[in-house]
Amino acid sequence: EVTETNYFATDDHFAGSLFIPRNEFAHKGSYGKAVIVGGSYGKIGAAVLATKSALKTGAGLTFTLAPQCGYEVLQTSCPEAMFIEGGEQYIKDFDIDKGAVIGIGPGLGTHADTQKGLLKFLKDNQAPLVLDADALNIISEDKKNLQLIPKRSIITPHPKEFERLFGPTENSFERLELARKKAEELGVYIVLKDHHTQVITPDGKVYYNLTGNAGLAKGGSGDILTGILTSLLAQRYSEKNACILGVWLHGKAADLAAEKHSKESMLPTDVIDELGNVFIDLN
Ligand code: AMP
Ligand code: MG
Repeated sequence: EVTETNYFATDDHFAGSLFIPRNEFAHKGSYGKAVIVGGSYGKIGAAVLATKSALKTGAGLTFTLAPQCGYEVLQTSCPEAMFIEGGEQYIKDFDIDKGAVIGIGPGLGTHADTQKGLLKFLKDNQAPLVLDADALNIISEDKKNLQLIPKRSIITPHPKEFERLFGPTENSFERLELARKKAEELGVYIVLKDHHTQVITPDGKVYYNLTGNAGLAKGGSGDILTGILTSLLAQRYSEKNACILGVWLHGKAADLAAEKHSKESMLPTDVIDELGNVFIDLN
């Protein structure tokens, strides 16, 4: 009888094998459209971090759907990205062209109009999404909302968000087994963010990431991961490879940032700045 393991570790060699170098004859259409949906008054920075990360991970075209109050900040800090207005102080209209890969959540807030708009969008949309932060918190309000998550989506909860979505567990082993059950039931990829982040696939496989450090334990770190994952999906990486490679990239850039700046002083912005060096090594 053949027994198959379900647990894997993502080391540098494995991550490197998933990386697809850029085609010399590429044009911007070759690398897809990434749309970051996030930001609200006081949390526009989260949308900036996710947008910059999507740009620095290589998407062909990057858009940010954000409230009007974020317009100048976004256009100034991310001039390569295009702005789509979704409301005044917070997003209420989630109106996005088909054909883009959409990552929703950083800095979104949980205003009643945002909740209504997001749930309506989820009802009308079938394409896989990246869902993070307040998008997950909105979904957590009612267990029935879990059924609205499109199949093959990537959800990126930290432990607290995971608990809000799926309920409490006694320890990290129980949490992982619950994640495997839910990933299969819902047909989604779960990126369970932690010290060694785990990628859980709908067929019950678990990939432990080996990069990253405690310098990431700061507001804004997760927003970067959302940008990276959305960008990789836009570039036609499979959901599974986007998760495994994206989580590794995020941690690797964080390790380079820690070497340069220390775990204490490194900022999520420094992590974004190191993405280029990680890609140089991959190429
Ligand atoms: P969030 O809580 O959404 O900002 O996400 C935090 C991000 O930083 C996730 O990708 C975590 O895996 C990562 N992170 C936070 N703390 C640590 C840690 N102590 N070691 C490694 N990664 C961490
Ligand atoms: Mg977060």
